[in-house]
Amino acid sequence: MKRSKSGGRLFGTNGARGVVGVDMTPELVFSIGAAFGSMRRGKIAVGRDTRTSGEMLLHALKAGLLSTGCDIVDCGVLPTPALQFLVRGEFTGGAMITASHNPPEYNGIKVIDADGTEMGDNETAALERLVRSGEFAIQSWDGTGKETAEPDSVGRYTDAIVARFPGSPGKGMLVAIDTGSGPACRTTPEILRRIGCRVLTVNGTMDGTFPGRQPEPSEQGLAALSALVVGSGADFGIAHDGDADRAVFLDENGRYVEENAELALVARYICRRRKGAIVTPVSTSRLVGMIAEEEGCGVVYTKVGSINVARKMLALIREGKDVVFGGEGNGGLIYPEFQFCRDGGMTAAMMVAILAEEKKKLSAIVASLPRRFMIKGKISAPAGHAVLAALSREFARDTIDRLDGVKIIRGESWALIRESGTEPLVRIVVESPDQEQAASFYKEVTAAVQGSLERKGSRKKR
Ligand code: MG
Repeated sequence: MKRSKSGGRLFGTNGARGVVGVDMTPELVFSIGAAFGSMRRGKIAVGRDTRTSGEMLLHALKAGLLSTGCDIVDCGVLPTPALQFLVRGEFTGGAMITASHNPPEYNGIKVIDADGTEMGDNETAALERLVRSGEFAIQSWDGTGKETAEPDSVGRYTDAIVARFPGSPGKGMLVAIDTGSGPACRTTPEILRRIGCRVLTVNGTMDGTFPGRQPEPSEQGLAALSALVVGSGADFGIAHDGDADRAVFLDENGRYVEENAELALVARYICRRRKGAIVTPVSTSRLVGMIAEEEGCGVVYTKVGSINVARKMLALIREGKDVVFGGEGNGGLIYPEFQFCRDGGMTAAMMVAILAEEKKKLSAIVASLPRRFMIKGKISAPAGHAVLAALSREFARDTIDRLDGVKIIRGESWALIRESGTEPLVRIVVESPDQEQAASFYKEVTAAVQGSLERKGSRKKR
């Protein structure tokens, strides 16, 4: 059986993904289903996004789960956060056939725990071992599971979001939505209509070939949405990724709102109502910390990855701390009062509430945020961990944070250097309140990385 073309790890930070028919086959998905069923038993909710290979892989997943005696509830085509919402409380787990933002030829699986979060690292490693060993708890003829369907999977999710925004905050607002031919076609337009908005859509029909744009809602891919916003005079535009756990925005001029600014705007709205911690990865703009502090809240940093953010939020709450909000600077925002996963539908509704409160244009609200300048790059580095160790020594005069990679903090500026998990390279992000300062800091860090690589190279030659 083909497992992973590279022979490497099956599960990355957001589940297992691969090209359908090459890395991602029905045999593999059956094994993941049988392994997950062996671990969790009980009742499992399953669903999928709109990809053309979704039906095939969902059948394989169901067969795996049923063979181990699990009962399954098919929730159909729905956003990942909608499935996560349904799982919490009622199921021993969930599994979503999706490749999120990857191109149409990809598919994959996100495994969800009983609390609605994506499965954590240790459990995922155990699941992966079980897939590789093939030692599943397969049941005999009288022990296999039963399948039922949840007829209103999407309705329960949309109802729950709408209930959080009473009083039609969207009254008088026109919103343009690019649902990207994904499962958000079933949710976001309805949510926004029900909280009072008038809604226009582009790529609004579910289609797994993604004829209008790629599932990644990149600035370049949103030209049609931008034209719709400008042409219709919409108050803002919104676009989702392929499974609608992320949401990104365009202002009323059709211009892309940088995702850290989005995170900061939502943080400010929430921190004005509740005090506590915001949880976000070390790669997030300092902007978010500045906004949180202004409103009397604090920031707790985590390793990069939404699952790390969600699990940290849960851990802090278990310790009795107040946690008001979490998220990454990529449009993936987590609302702990609702659920502990990234939620594109909630984020869409949240932007309506923000505009209703501020009574200003979105471009003006974004312009009111402190300015920050970010530079991102990458350098080919075969042994990234040695480079990171050298950098910690070289920048010892600055504050060094080793939570994830090396973060060099110098006054209001910072640089983050991390090893790539999949390629032999290090990624560099530098941020500063001043453009020139950002450029010179970036140059300094890049030179240090290259210097360390050259020293290692010349030592090898000797
Ligand atoms: Mg996604």
